[in-house]
Amino acid sequence: MAKKSIANVDLKGKRVLIRVDFNVPQDDKGAITDDRRIRMALPTIQHVLNNGGRVILMSHLGRPEGKDRNADARFTIEPAAKRLGELLGKPVKFSPEAVGPVAEKAVAELKDGEVLMLENVRFYEAEQIKDKNAKNDPALKEKKESFARQLAAFGDVYVNDAFGTCHRDNASMLTVPQQMTGKPKVVGFLVEKELKYLGDALNNPQRPFVAILGGKKVSDKIAVIEALLKKCDTVLIGGAMQYTFMLARGLKAGQSLVEPDKVDEAKRLLQLGGDKLKLPVDVVCAKELKPGIATTTVEGDIPDDLSGFDIGPKTVEEYKKIIAGAKTVAWNGPMGVFETPPFDKGTYAIAQALVEATARGAITVIGGGDSAAAIEKAGLSEKVSHVSTGGGASLEFMEGKPFKAVEILDEA
Ligand code: AMP
Repeated sequence: MAKKSIANVDLKGKRVLIRVDFNVPQDDKGAITDDRRIRMALPTIQHVLNNGGRVILMSHLGRPEGKDRNADARFTIEPAAKRLGELLGKPVKFSPEAVGPVAEKAVAELKDGEVLMLENVRFYEAEQIKDKNAKNDPALKEKKESFARQLAAFGDVYVNDAFGTCHRDNASMLTVPQQMTGKPKVVGFLVEKELKYLGDALNNPQRPFVAILGGKKVSDKIAVIEALLKKCDTVLIGGAMQYTFMLARGLKAGQSLVEPDKVDEAKRLLQLGGDKLKLPVDVVCAKELKPGIATTTVEGDIPDDLSGFDIGPKTVEEYKKIIAGAKTVAWNGPMGVFETPPFDKGTYAIAQALVEATARGAITVIGGGDSAAAIEKAGLSEKVSHVSTGGGASLEFMEGKPFKAVEILDEA
């Protein structure tokens, strides 16, 4: 069921409490090295301002684990508020507290057309109390709810525009909207777009539907492989997880990264997948992981002194052919150690194949995290249909797990 969008709410004179994801990367001096997440939130923020509302922003940044801004200034979200001001071309007010008297005063003084950013919600332990822990512990439950109630009181409208944390039951994501009965609770434009692209691709795909899964650990991806085998026509495997599959097929993986305790799971997936599940036919190997090191391309057993770091050229050709025939492609996880050339070739070839598929009209969706970083690094993110902002969230979405933080929002 589609969720109500911020486009369909009266915002004039309203205090619009928006959960954004301003968890931006910073260098040692605290300078923001990539402001993409802030830029992605601009359409929602601008929409509220254009319609005469007041914007109150909350977000997490890093993992301060309950320390406050005085104890660990690295995690203050003030630099993100400043950058937002530059991008909007207007001042953004900042409250050094997310709740309490200082925040209350700042909210009370906010006027129509103004923006206020609250301090990092993860400075408060209550933000990350898990519901499963709070269930049997009344004091913990009250701690989480009392924090959420204070935030909830700041808004006449609640907006979720933080896709990257939609799979979590954090206070600002779930408990705050739970405390806002009778008030509109909607998705912002960013979350709306994520749900549309990921949702359509997975639940209503144009066929053939091809999924490409890579990354480090097969253990992280078992559930998603299983879910996608049910929905897709073909699932292509790459990344380090292919070596555990090699063991499952009775092949040697040399020094490659493997998870011996997942071999039985891999065997089960091979049986379940049959012809649908494709594994690399060749692997680019080396003695160690070093930029520019000499490589050997191996088919079959990997020699004892070598590790596999990328899919090989034959695999690239085979996967490219399959992608070329697809009408929907979903990709999550790099094909090799793309951070260390020459082991970036497989990942970039697949990225290029997605760009070509998009140009001939296929829907191409990239799950966040490392595959998003790879396509961004290749300068190709504008040439695919959608690059998700959520790493863990997009993976859980692909697994078909329900997101309580989205379910709580109003229906369209
Ligand atoms: P994940 O977080 O599971 O998506 O894994 C991403 C990481 O997997 C990236 O940092 C890659 O460098 C790494 N990776 C991909 N292929 C390999 C490989 N063959 N050996 C070791 N690491 C790999």
